[in-house]
Amino acid sequence: MPDLINRVTAPPEVHLPLRGHVVYGGPEGIGETHFDDVPEPETVEIEGEKGDDPRVALRKTLGLFTTGVTIITTRAGDEVHGMTANAFMSVSLEPPLVLISIDRRAKMCGLLHEGARFGVNVLGETQRDLSDRFAGRPLPDDVGQPRFAMIHDTPLIDGALAQFAARVVRSYWGGDHSLFLGQPLYAHTNPGTPLVFHRGRYERLVETTATG
Ligand code: FAD
Repeated sequence: MPDLINRVTAPPEVHLPLRGHVVYGGPEGIGETHFDDVPEPETVEIEGEKGDDPRVALRKTLGLFTTGVTIITTRAGDEVHGMTANAFMSVSLEPPLVLISIDRRAKMCGLLHEGARFGVNVLGETQRDLSDRFAGRPLPDDVGQPRFAMIHDTPLIDGALAQFAARVVRSYWGGDHSLFLGQPLYAHTNPGTPLVFHRGRYERLVETTATG
């Protein structure tokens, strides 16, 4: 009986060192974390192809974690500002808490602070255009403008698969991102199938029929 395990050739392992480009800016910090308290950058060992930029390799590895796609919305004076985000997670049911991670260079980051309201609009599979629009990507000319409903002083996108209005209760340092913990004040669902994001691309859920 051949030893199958010995016949499997392991892929070559390349370990790429990554030294973080950690953002230490800001005199005081954010939320409960002061910038003096943040961890020192460490070397990260990542498996990747020879010649890969270590940050690209880390990003590719992280991209295997499959998510939905949301548009984070907030009111900026008399206007609505939105941005595409897949870094959204449910944190707790008692009390209800959700978390978003926003790039510190994003306009959205400057609009959110403790006490601010934000909307989370979970996109359906037919709403790629909205994802592209709110990520600043080019769109075909015939794509219409999004419409918003104001609920709890929070703009929510018409037709999103799930909608939450939340209030920022804490914010935290997250390296080059800021983390905003939100307490949902409103939640609503519409029928449909979610848009999926995987390895940097949009995907669709495929329904499988169990056999056997
Ligand atoms: P801008 O870049 O100024 O605005 C974003 C776009 O939205 C612009 O084109 C603007 O014209 C349009 N827009 C804004 N408000 C309106 C409105 N009322 N009506 C019509 N159009 C409007 N970044 C993160 O920080 N965290 C994430 O989790 C994250 N996940 C992402 C997931 C995906 C699938 C994609 C494609 C991108 C993701 N990004 C994420 C990147 C982020 O969406 C972009 O960097 C975005 O441009 C940042 O937005 P901003 O707040 O800087 O605003």
